[in-house]
Amino acid sequence: MYLRSRAIVIKNMDYRESDKLVTIFCEHEGKMKAVARGIKKPRSSLRACVQPFCHSSLFFSRGKGMNLITQGKLLEFYGNTREDFERSLYALYLMELLDKSLMEGIAIPRLYTSTLEVLSHLNHSGYNPMLIRYFEMNLLVNLGYSPLLHHCVLCGKKDDLKVFSLPDGGMLCRDCSYQASGAVSLSKETLALIGLLGSSRLVTVERVRVSNKAQKELEYFLEKYLEYYLERRFNLKKAMSILKRSMPKDTHLI
Ligand SMILES: [Zn+2]
Repeated sequence: MYLRSRAIVIKNMDYRESDKLVTIFCEHEGKMKAVARGIKKPRSSLRACVQPFCHSSLFFSRGKGMNLITQGKLLEFYGNTREDFERSLYALYLMELLDKSLMEGIAIPRLYTSTLEVLSHLNHSGYNPMLIRYFEMNLLVNLGYSPLLHHCVLCGKKDDLKVFSLPDGGMLCRDCSYQASGAVSLSKETLALIGLLGSSRLVTVERVRVSNKAQKELEYFLEKYLEYYLERRFNLKKAMSILKRSMPKDTHLI
């Protein structure tokens, strides 16, 4: 069976002598692994379109064994992300999050679109913390973990909301917060920012002025929320902390 799909290349790794095993996020097929045959040969036409951070149109042959990439065309290469440490670090972080959180074969077209949008902004405009927060929030929302912000998830009260309960996925009022475990305190500014991230376009999010305190609180909240839902299944915490602290010295992007 043959298939053609637009795809974001998440990573590739050595596979047999002249091949690579490529992990991709396809627009309509979701995450998939496929072999790029002969890619290590200097004249391979696939070389340019299966590097990490590429957006490519790929042709596949799907059989009983591994999927094979037979042809490809590069649509966009977010190459500036390799030019400086910070952009590379965060582009790798985005790819790692996708790799660890997506199930194979499940399409998430909205997340696909927002990933392209974030990669494009990171490539052209550089690092902005709100860009990364926007991606993290979009990932959570598209995986079905939208935080419930406007009422207490235990009693339904709409005012006096104090903390966010990670296990319940939403806010708790002052009365209910006493029975909370795994709760994160959120200021009104941070709460408004979380609401904005989940409902606004990236161009709007990028222009918002955020206090240092709220920026830190927001980063902490999203890190904890992502960890809570993804760590147990994917051991994400370790990967996140490594990526956030430093880029591995021997990272090979191709
Ligand atoms: Zn309550």
